[in-house]
Amino acid sequence: MVRGLLLLVILLVLAGCSRQGTPIVAAAPLEAPEVAQRSIATAPVIPTQSWPTQTPLPTNTVAPVTQTPLPPTATPGPPPLRGGEAAPPLSGELAMVTYSLDLYRLDGAPPAAVVQQLGLDGEAAIENGSRLIGGTLSGRVAVRFEPPQSGECAIRGITRSDLRTIRLFYAPDTDPNRMRGILAHELFHQIQRDYYGERDHRKADVILLEGMAVWGTADYFRAEDGRALYQVRAKAAFDEGRLLPLTTSLEADCRTTTRNDIYNQWASFVEYLLATYDRDALDVAYRSSSGRPAGSADWVAAYGKPLPVLEQEWITWLGQQ
Ligand SMILES: [Zn+2]
Repeated sequence: MVRGLLLLVILLVLAGCSRQGTPIVAAAPLEAPEVAQRSIATAPVIPTQSWPTQTPLPTNTVAPVTQTPLPPTATPGPPPLRGGEAAPPLSGELAMVTYSLDLYRLDGAPPAAVVQQLGLDGEAAIENGSRLIGGTLSGRVAVRFEPPQSGECAIRGITRSDLRTIRLFYAPDTDPNRMRGILAHELFHQIQRDYYGERDHRKADVILLEGMAVWGTADYFRAEDGRALYQVRAKAAFDEGRLLPLTTSLEADCRTTTRNDIYNQWASFVEYLLATYDRDALDVAYRSSSGRPAGSADWVAAYGKPLPVLEQEWITWLGQQ
């Protein structure tokens, strides 16, 4: 009987130990919620303090480093390319591919290293021209540098915007700064075409086609006093009494000097129109033309007056500049 009671006491003591042990074990899960609660209580403080300065950028930059560590010798992936209309592959050496441009060269043209310098200049020119027109490229453009043309009707660049192709004609030792401006001019034609559409651009009045392109790339052609070169030269022609008629035909007189002179005047005329009338009127005139010849736009529909009247207004304005 006593032995039975003793056994019962021992069992109860053992049971008490196990109950004491249970709380110890149970203490861990109890502590865990405390830790969790502390972190919950403090967590909102940290994000609200850190969010204003920790934009998504830090997490974006950390992720690739921790998740995809690249060996130092790894080459970056291909750069992003502008989508939309494709540029045709051209013959010659493909010297560079940029976001918008495939730049080629032929033997006798500037070397690949120079062409590569001009690639990013071309992208900047696209940005600039797009801002001025209010539209941008609808696809990629192929640019090819070719040996220079010769003769009194030689041209430095030509754009087939329907084929999304630009050709530039320069000697290997040409100063890249000279080519930068002409590349910008030809790219401006492509932006015009993509903004107005093939149907209207194909038959645009050359006064607006070229006048806008020279006006829109004035940053690349500045006189020493900072004025646009076309402004200086159109004013000089006025002062010297040698303004050409705005309807001067380059089919009848293809000389490079005539081309330069009339381009400068057309640019000055476009500047006058934009300074005096709505931009919408310019777009109406651009789209209204029946063909490429100078003066072929429907000026009355766009401005309520014929070209000779607008031309006289412009000459008066030019005299006041
Ligand atoms: Zn042009």
